[in-house]
Amino acid sequence: MIPPMPGAISLNTSIEDLHSFKIARLGQILSHKLAKALAAQTHKKNAADVTVEDLLNYFPMRYEDRSRPALIKDLHDGAEASLELTVTKTHGYPVRNPRGYGRAQLYIFEVSGIDGPMTGREVIVWWFVSGRRAYDIVKYYTAKLTRGTRFITFGRWEWEARRNTFKLRLNNAADELEVLLPPSEEIEIDPEQSEENQPDPSLAAIHVGRRVPVYRKLGEFNSKRVREIVHAVLSQLTDKTIEETLPADLRHRAKLIGRAQALREIHFPPPDVSMLDYERSKSAAHVRMIFEDFFWVTFAIGLKRGQREKEVKATPLRIDKSVKDHIGSVMPFKLTGAQRKVTAQIFKDMQSTAPMNRLLQGDVGSGKTIVAVIAMIAAMENDLQTALMAPTEILAEQHARNIKRLLAKTPYRVELLTGSLRASEKRHLQNALKEGEIHACVGTQALIQEAVAFEKLGLVVIDEQHRFGVMQRAELRARGLNPDVLVMTATPIPRSLAMTVYGDLDVSIIDELPPGRTPIETLVFGEDQRQEVKRLITREVKAGRQVYVVYPLVEESEKMDLKDATRRYEYLRDTVFPRLKVGLLHGKMKPAEKESVMSAFVAGEIKILVSTTVIEVGVDVPNASVMIVEHAERFGLSQLHQLRGRVGRGAEKSYCILLTSDKKTAVAEERLGIMAETNDGFRIAEKDLELRGPGELLGTKQSGLPEFRIGNIVRDQEILAQAKQEAEYYLGKPKSVVTAKMIARIKKDPRFGLAAIG
Ligand code: ADP
Ligand code: MG
Repeated sequence: MIPPMPGAISLNTSIEDLHSFKIARLGQILSHKLAKALAAQTHKKNAADVTVEDLLNYFPMRYEDRSRPALIKDLHDGAEASLELTVTKTHGYPVRNPRGYGRAQLYIFEVSGIDGPMTGREVIVWWFVSGRRAYDIVKYYTAKLTRGTRFITFGRWEWEARRNTFKLRLNNAADELEVLLPPSEEIEIDPEQSEENQPDPSLAAIHVGRRVPVYRKLGEFNSKRVREIVHAVLSQLTDKTIEETLPADLRHRAKLIGRAQALREIHFPPPDVSMLDYERSKSAAHVRMIFEDFFWVTFAIGLKRGQREKEVKATPLRIDKSVKDHIGSVMPFKLTGAQRKVTAQIFKDMQSTAPMNRLLQGDVGSGKTIVAVIAMIAAMENDLQTALMAPTEILAEQHARNIKRLLAKTPYRVELLTGSLRASEKRHLQNALKEGEIHACVGTQALIQEAVAFEKLGLVVIDEQHRFGVMQRAELRARGLNPDVLVMTATPIPRSLAMTVYGDLDVSIIDELPPGRTPIETLVFGEDQRQEVKRLITREVKAGRQVYVVYPLVEESEKMDLKDATRRYEYLRDTVFPRLKVGLLHGKMKPAEKESVMSAFVAGEIKILVSTTVIEVGVDVPNASVMIVEHAERFGLSQLHQLRGRVGRGAEKSYCILLTSDKKTAVAEERLGIMAETNDGFRIAEKDLELRGPGELLGTKQSGLPEFRIGNIVRDQEILAQAKQEAEYYLGKPKSVVTAKMIARIKKDPRFGLAAIG
């Protein structure tokens, strides 16, 4: 079949069709692979829906200035420079003895080279070659880089005293070393590249002698291939086909360059701009794209919020003196000022006709649970049912236990509904819920999802689950329920940012801990300090306290991690503390087992609980005073803060020991150092944002909230504030043509899930 004549490339061109534009050696198969890789990036289900716009929104992670080649005489230790060199010799040698066939091998490949005018001693460029085909790759490079071959290479040069010259280590030789004149016609197939991917001298100019973007690997496309493809696409796109999405007066106010220019320059920095600005994401191109990113997200959120304010719930609550007296009669302690303040805010929402959608933020141990219980009682006093959802069964059980105890003297029936109940029990409870006989239902997320029907659901509380909320509310509403929603989280992020990131949630903050807490002492220990850890455990257990030992469990290596934790548990139980009761808890255990271990720990029978991160959030055993985290370097900061929050819940002094084998690496030192330095969840969250980016921290990836493509809510706070202000300005003029166009635009964008909004 003859393919249809392609028109010009536009932003809407499907990536799968790129092969018909003859660009950058992209055949049909590779076009499809590229579309698939981008689909994963953009959360599009269908590779056919991925467009050139998606490709251009795959921004570089950094840039390299390869435009001005340096000379050997200009080098100094640590200098970043590109050099044009001529090969004098190469040398590839194994660094490990091959231990039989089929084993992965490691080679070092070294190229010595000299610059044209010979301004200094021969320098050395080297890299590791590994994998099954390492030997072939070494052979390939030896043939490619024969004496006299000219090449350009870029990177950080280091002085090596032993060899009395400069050395450059490449991380990705295929990209960081570019051959200028292949010495022979016969080029073997590059074992690192596919067939459609053979070296093409006409493309070399894209990679050398200019400023180049460096991309994260995209599927099987390395940075260099992405660069070639983006370059080819941009050169075929005319500015006219790149639609400007922001009004001219807005661009003028915010001093933004046009979209076409920004899209070009964010990939290929022009020769005259500051590279420092590019590195810091402060170039004109960056500012424009970041602004746009924030603008559309805040605009969409604002639109959703306006929608909610127009909704009406079945009945606004009545919270009078008698309701408050009832609440007062079950309170186990005096509320802190902060707890009283947020309770008042929640009451106000519940008494209003619009459904509450509030985020309750408070550091670990700040006492969020009791606030939720108060809200639940208020709803139940109004003859409404309530649901409390927790992220884990362990936490759901703990909540059910506590709330049952708290409400024992009231007429309210509290039940625990989890996925692990027997089918008959479940049916029984579900019937009771439907009949309105259960007033407070505690469970995991399954609670709402498993087709649970309520007679009259008035309030949903979602604990420790910031990855939740907006979408689930939509789901509930779709089932004809429009309850008040209270989401609780210990992730402390600045209020203005929270408003943006959490979508249409209002925010309340508990900024005060209950009285009588002793600060937790946090220590970072290396492997060689295990004896000290043992002494600490022994001492604390003797004094009647209890201990957590937590192991990381990551999805990719779940089985190994679990084995690790189990082995350590057996070792602690049999060898180190044979006379103490040691327990094991992990997510793969049967619910009944989990519950019996947990209640033995709550009862103080188990002294040392070895666990995976299932106890990360919410677990409240005030008698536990030591938290030991194994492989602490593998946890995020906010996660460590959560884990640490499991101790220090009583009046006794508590300890958090972060064990790590690579105490010495800079990153581990920086991150774990912060933990030792501060107990302030706010500072830790900021640091975490800096180190890992907001997507990770806030779990927006899972929440269905739109992700920012390039905007970083910490780094780009000023742009965020301005974008938000502009979004509000346009939302404030709903009748204007410009606003109507904006609304139409974001409704079409599947990122925002707004298609249904009228
Ligand atoms: P988190 O905010 O981390 O969910 P919790 O609600 O589990 O914290 O509360 C932590 C501990 O503090 C619990 O043992 C709880 O009973 C206790 N607590 C909460 N509020 C107060 C208060 N006002 N006075 C004394 N203890 C309190
Ligand atoms: Mg909690």
